[in-house]
Amino acid sequence: MADQAHVKDTLGRHLRDLRISVTDRCNLRCGYCMPADVFGPDHAFLPRKEILDYDEIAHLARVFAALGTRKLRITGGEPLLRRDLPELVALLRAVPGIDDIALTTNGLLLPAFARALKQAGLSRVTVSLDSLDDEVFGRMNGKGVGTAPVLKGIDAALAAGLTPLKINMVVKRGENDSEIEAMAERWRGTGIVLRYIEYMDVGTSNGWRLDDVMPAREIVARVRARWPLESADPNYPGEVADRWRYADGQGEIGVISSVTNTFCGDCTRARLSARGELFTCLFAGAGHDLKGPLRAGASEAKLRALIESIWQRREDRYSELRNANTTGLPKAEMSYLGG
Ligand code: SAM
Ligand code: SF4
Ligand code: SF4
Repeated sequence: MADQAHVKDTLGRHLRDLRISVTDRCNLRCGYCMPADVFGPDHAFLPRKEILDYDEIAHLARVFAALGTRKLRITGGEPLLRRDLPELVALLRAVPGIDDIALTTNGLLLPAFARALKQAGLSRVTVSLDSLDDEVFGRMNGKGVGTAPVLKGIDAALAAGLTPLKINMVVKRGENDSEIEAMAERWRGTGIVLRYIEYMDVGTSNGWRLDDVMPAREIVARVRARWPLESADPNYPGEVADRWRYADGQGEIGVISSVTNTFCGDCTRARLSARGELFTCLFAGAGHDLKGPLRAGASEAKLRALIESIWQRREDRYSELRNANTTGLPKAEMSYLGG
C-alpha cells in the first residue's frame, strides 16, 4: 500500500485494527458492562440520526485502510441488533487492504444471521459466554437469559463456517470463577478457543473494584491444575491474549490480562463509536469527532489527514498507568465506544 500505510503514534505504534461500534443498544444487561439499574427503561440511547449509516462507516473504513488498518471488528452494544448487518459486512469486505473482518456478539441472534453474515464476507465471530450454568449466566447477563440460546448461536456460527470461533468469558471473582474449569472442559478439543478476560474498569457504571478481578495467573493455575499447559507464542505481534496450549493436544486457551499484565506497548487498536467518534484508547474519556467533517463533505484526503494527525498525537497507555487516581477518571462506557 501507499506510504501513508505506516502512520505511527508517539510510542511508535501502528494503526492496524479498527473496532467499529454499530449500536449502543443491547438485549442483555451484563453487570460489568451495562448494569440494569443504570441502563434502565428510561435510559436515553443514541437517536438514529446520530448514528453513522453503513455508507458512512464504509467510507471511514476506507480511510483507515489507507492509513494501514488491516483488521476490522464489528461490535457494540450488541451489533446484531442493528438492522441488516450483513449489508455492512459486504461493504466492508469491498474495502481494499482489509484482510480480516470479525464480529463480537452475545450470540443470541446468530441463529438468524450466521449464514447471511458468512455470505456477506464475515471472516469469524467471537461469542461472549460467561458460564455454562443457567443460574450464574442469567444473573450475570442481568436478564435471566439461559445458556441454551447462546449455545445455539455458537452452533449456527460453526455450521456457517465463521471460524476460528472464539469464546470470551469475563471472569469476576465470586460471580463465575467457579466456572473456570467447567468452561475449559466444555470447549477443549472442539477447535474453539476459550479466552478468559480479566474484569476491567471500563466506563464508570459497573462499580469496578480491584478485589473483583481474578488475575490471569490464577486462572491459568486453575486450568493447569487439571490439564497441563504449555505457553504458546503470539499468533501475531500485538495479540492481546496470552496463549496456552493443552499439553495433550486438545487445543488452546487465551487469557487477556488487561489489569494485571498490561499490553499498551503493542496496542494498535482504534475504536470508532456508533456516533462517529474516534477513540484512541478503551479508557479514553472522550473521542475525536469524525462524523461532523464527514457529513460536512470533507474529502477523503482531508479525513485521512485528520485521522493521521489524531493518531500521530496518540500517547494513551491507560492500563500501564492504572492506579487509584486513574480508575476514578471519567471514561466512556464500553457499550458506547465498542468493546
Ligand atoms: N455485545 C457483544 C458481546 O457481548 O460480545 C459485543 C460488545 S461487548 C462490550 C464486547 C466484549 O467486551 C464482550 O466479550 C464483553 O464480555 C466484554 N466486556 C464488557 N465489559 C467488560 C469489562 N468490564 N471487563 C472485561 N470485559 C468486558
Ligand atoms: Fe450487552 Fe455485550 Fe455489554 Fe453484555 S457485554 S451488556 S451482551 S454489550
Ligand atoms: Fe490500548 Fe488503551 Fe488498552 Fe492500553 S489501555 S491496551 S492503550 S486500549
